[in-house]
Amino acid sequence: MIKVGINGYGTIGRRVAFAVMQQPDMVVSGIVKTKPDYVSEIASSTYKIFVPDRSYIDAFDRAGIKVSGTAEDLTGDSDVIVDATPEGQGEKNKGIYVKAGKKAVFEGGEDASIVDASFNAYSDYSDAIGKNYVRVVSCNTTAMARTLFPLKEKFGIRSVSATLIRRATDQNDSKKGPINAVEPSIKIPSHHASDLKTVMPGFDVSTVAVKVPTTLMHVHVIDAEINDELSKNDVISAWDGYNRIIGINSNNGIVSTAQVMDLSREIGRDRSDLYEIAVWLGSVTVDGKHVRYIQAVHQESDVIPENIDAIRAMFELNDRDKSIEITDRSLKITKRLF
Ligand code: NAD
Repeated sequence: MIKVGINGYGTIGRRVAFAVMQQPDMVVSGIVKTKPDYVSEIASSTYKIFVPDRSYIDAFDRAGIKVSGTAEDLTGDSDVIVDATPEGQGEKNKGIYVKAGKKAVFEGGEDASIVDASFNAYSDYSDAIGKNYVRVVSCNTTAMARTLFPLKEKFGIRSVSATLIRRATDQNDSKKGPINAVEPSIKIPSHHASDLKTVMPGFDVSTVAVKVPTTLMHVHVIDAEINDELSKNDVISAWDGYNRIIGINSNNGIVSTAQVMDLSREIGRDRSDLYEIAVWLGSVTVDGKHVRYIQAVHQESDVIPENIDAIRAMFELNDRDKSIEITDRSLKITKRLF
């Protein structure tokens, strides 16, 4: 069993911890928390709690939450750390993992330059095999890589242009906005274009990102220029066999991200997570060599299967297809059409 320590137990960290516990070959060795809040209180009945350094211990003692040690101690007790601390903090923490000679998975908020490989399970599994420091790319990049990879494999892609309509913040956050504004990223291409190239090189990419006042999901409008002419059916059938892409029929009431998220509640997902990228099949449009489609992305959870596969690749436990199969089975990800 690979012992996985989770440094940073927020939106991503708590979901990675849950997913690790569903695997037959991994176990959570502990989590690092900074505050003795309700999340720590609830998590302490499942996981050993660690803190960034000794200065945090008193507050946990006062709250009656047992602390098992510091982030350094957790690193010592683990085979790999998944660092899901806020953007930029992972880079600061890397020294702890290097000093202990332990592997670490970082998240999309970190710079690609701090790792040996960036990771997407479909497009880039082999790059992470045996590596010590791997970064699972952001929720937006993961989503683009997921649905573009089958098209690239089957038809070849010449260029991609995508508009990313981004949720303002996550559901447990009452601090960030905007709450009544639409905020474009101004810079074109947005950083997502270069990020996609870290896991799927070989074609031109341009992205525009716009933040809107919602917490549920991102929506992407993707235009891919393909090498050959093809039909709408060719596109949809290229996604067959890739469980992490689900097809949505808009004639069944799923007309917005509100219903896509409701769907994940109805299928009984933990925390109502939707690991898969949901593509509105009615939006798939072929115009000569251009394929256009619209997809919804549950930013809190789409990267979670990738975190698990990254660990398997780093420890050379399985090849790509086997790892994906184990992860999908454990998280109840099956090919679905709604
Ligand atoms: P978050 O703010 O929800 O969680 C981060 C957690 O780390 C918080 O609980 C915070 O208290 C804790 N923390 C802060 N400093 C710490 C420290 N020094 N040591 C240990 N814990 C510390 O953030 P998140 O959304 O989970 O993002 C984590 C990473 O995942 C970032 O790189 C982010 O870019 C990436 N990511 C986020 C999303 C998303 O939609 N939320 C999606 C994909 C990737």
